[in-house]
Amino acid sequence: MPEELNPFKIAQEQLDEAASVMGLDEQAHQILREPMRTLTVTIPVKMKDGKTHTFQGFRVQYNDARGPAKGGIRFHPQESLDTVKALSAWMTWKTSLANIPFGGAKGGIICDTKQMNEDELQALSRGYIRAIGKFIGPNIDIPAPDVYTTPQIMAWMMDEYDNIVRHNEPGVITGKPLEVWGSEGRSDSTAMGGLFVMREAAKTLGIDLKTAKIAVQGFGNAGKYAYTLSKKLFGANVVAISDSEGAIYDDKGLDLAKLEKAKTDTGSVQGYEGGKKLTNEQLLESEVDILIPAAIENQITGKNADKINAKLVLELANGPVTPDADKILHERGILDLPDFLVNSGGVIGSYFEWVQNINGYYWPADEVYQKLDKIITKSFADTMSTKKAYDDKGTKITPRTAAYIIAVDRVAKAMKARGWY
Ligand code: NAD
Repeated sequence: MPEELNPFKIAQEQLDEAASVMGLDEQAHQILREPMRTLTVTIPVKMKDGKTHTFQGFRVQYNDARGPAKGGIRFHPQESLDTVKALSAWMTWKTSLANIPFGGAKGGIICDTKQMNEDELQALSRGYIRAIGKFIGPNIDIPAPDVYTTPQIMAWMMDEYDNIVRHNEPGVITGKPLEVWGSEGRSDSTAMGGLFVMREAAKTLGIDLKTAKIAVQGFGNAGKYAYTLSKKLFGANVVAISDSEGAIYDDKGLDLAKLEKAKTDTGSVQGYEGGKKLTNEQLLESEVDILIPAAIENQITGKNADKINAKLVLELANGPVTPDADKILHERGILDLPDFLVNSGGVIGSYFEWVQNINGYYWPADEVYQKLDKIITKSFADTMSTKKAYDDKGTKITPRTAAYIIAVDRVAKAMKARGWY
C-alpha cells in the first residue's frame, strides 16, 4: 500500500491538523498520536481438510480515558495492523463526538470468510476470543460486528467469553442477535443514524430528499440499510448501488426484490435485471445529489475527487475519503461529512445495547431510534456550529476538522482530569 494511503498515517495526519488548529497541548497530542495497547494474536483452526491453519488477528485499544474501549471486529483478507490502529483511533473520536461513555478500540482477523464454512468460522471466532479474552470485558473493552462479521459471530464470541468467565456476560459484546440480548434497532442503527445526518444536512443545503438522486457504494449492513431506509424514511430515490463486483444504475430507482434476486442468483447486484452496469469508480462519479460510500476505505482520493458530482458526501464507511480528497471536495463546495459523525449510529446503537444488557431491561425499537436521533442530530449541529465558529474567526475548516476538534478536546480534558498529563 502506498504510504499516503496508509490508514494509520491518515488518522495521525487528521489528528495533527486538528491539534494545530485548536492549539492542543503538546503532551496530550503525543499521547493521542499512538494507541494505548496493541495486541497481535495467532489463532490455530482445524479446517475442513483436517489440517490446522494459523490465522493472525489484532485487537487495538486506542484510548480509554472516557470509558471502556469500544469497537468492531473485521474479518478481511487484506486486514492489517495499521488499518486496525487507524480504525481504533477513529472509534475514539466517534464515541467522544457522540458524547457516549466509551473510549475507542478495533479488532481484525486476516481471513477470507468466502472460503470458509460455518464450522470453521465458528472455530475462528471462538479462537479469537480465547486469544484476547483476558483483555476484554463489559468495563474494559467491548467488541462489536464490522466488515464481514455478523450477529451470529457475536453470539459465538459472547458464548466463548461466558465459558471463560463462567457466567453470563451479555455486555461484553454488542451487535448480538435478539435471542441473546441484542437490542431492537441495532442491526440498522448505523444506516439509520447516517440518514438522520443526511436529513439534517439536506435541510442545510436545501436538498429536497423526495426528488434527490442518491448513489450508495456497498450492499452490506451499512449500504443495504442506507438504501432501504432512504426509501422508507424519506421516499428518496436511490439510483445506483454496488458491491465488490461492481455497480448497477437506474435513473428511475432500484427495486429491492430485484437486487436481492440478483445477489442470490449471481452473487452480485450487477446481476440486476434492467438498469445499467457501472464500475465502482463510475458509481462514485455519477450525476447524483448525494453520494454514500458505505463499503471500504480510500475510495475518494486525490485522483477522483475532482470528478465527484454530488453536493453531499455522507461517509457511512470508515475512511472512504483520503485527506487530499477531503480538501479538494471542500474547495469545490461539496459538503463532505466525516465517517466518525455519519456512521456513529452503529456505536450509539451498541451503547444502547450495552446499557440494556447491564440493566437487564429492554426498550422497544422506536425508543431506540428516538434516542439515536437525539444524539446524532446534536453531533451534527455541534460539528456545524464549531465549523462556523472557526470560519467566522477567519480559520476556514472542514466539517471533519470541526468534528475532530470537539472529539479531541473531550478526550484531552478527560485525560487531564485523570492526571495523564
Ligand atoms: P459488510 O461486510 O456488511 O458489507 C461490505 C460491503 O462492501 C459488501 O456489499 C461488499 O460487497 C462491499 N465491498 C467490498 N469491497 C468493495 C469494493 N472494493 N468496492 C465496492 N464495494 C465493496 O460491511 P458493513 O458492516 O456494511 O461495513 C461497511 C463500511 O461501514 C465499513 O467501512 C465499516 O467499517 C463501516 N461501518 C459499519 C458499521 C456497522 O454497524 N455495520 C458501523 C460503522 C461503520
